[in-house]
Amino acid sequence: MGLLKGKTALITGASKGIGRAIAIQYAKEGANVAFTYLSSVEKGQALENELAAYGIKAKGYRSDASNFKAAEELVNAVVTEFGGLDILVNNAGITRDNLLMRMTEEAWDEVINVNLKSCFNTVKAATRPMMKAKAGSIINITSVVGIKGNAGQANYAASKAGIIGFTKSVALELGSRNIRSNAVAPGFIETEMTGVLDEKVVQGWRDAIPMKRGGQAEEVANACVFLGSDMSSYISGQVLQVDGAMLT
Ligand code: NAP
Repeated sequence: MGLLKGKTALITGASKGIGRAIAIQYAKEGANVAFTYLSSVEKGQALENELAAYGIKAKGYRSDASNFKAAEELVNAVVTEFGGLDILVNNAGITRDNLLMRMTEEAWDEVINVNLKSCFNTVKAATRPMMKAKAGSIINITSVVGIKGNAGQANYAASKAGIIGFTKSVALELGSRNIRSNAVAPGFIETEMTGVLDEKVVQGWRDAIPMKRGGQAEEVANACVFLGSDMSSYISGQVLQVDGAMLT
């Protein structure tokens, strides 16, 4: 296939779930892959070897997405070690669910910082090398919850809605430099993040989805391959839902 051959991608939060699937699909498509993780050190190191088996350059970095300085150092290291940066996928994300009445200030701040501020951190650092190269594709992982809202997820929904506004603003600011900025909005995807939910709740979600099933991480990764590749060269400022028609 080789849709991403010769490109360098940085994917945040790739030790498991959707980020890991994106890293693998990108390697299969010929991209050199830099990725991050935070707490899952062993999984991160194992992924590096798995990706290298596709014959591409792969390197994992332990880096906290919510930390501005760390993101700057990360992007600089990737540009130096890989010789540039063509695709940035902001995937790192967490949930700290609770009803608003019970939500702590810490839970609010943590989710906003890891999910939303992280996008500002890496995009700000990646803008210079992408402007120099006169090309780039930025993909931010939002959620259908950022469009619709969700009871018990005010912090998460706010962070994901913020990502959409951020993504569109970046598309407007950097379009003239041939830098594209899009968001991918997964619906209900079967990963560790959703694995903590009660089976009854999960079944309720499945019943409510027109396609009558949860999505797989690979199905989100395929959308990210498209948006990272030149196949989407005139697509920017968009939110691509990968949700089995859940929010239609
Ligand atoms: P997941 O299985 O829980 O994986 C989350 C990833 O983010 C892990 O690799 C984790 O790394 C990393 N991460 C968390 N905090 C980090 C930090 N501060 N710095 C760097 N990395 C960090 O979640 P997922 O389901 O794959 O979700 C991935 C993205 O898709 C998230 O942005 C999520 O909001 C979004 N999403 C998911 C769904 C769904 O149904 N699953 C739906 C819509 C949107 P460590 O384990 O190493 O800390």
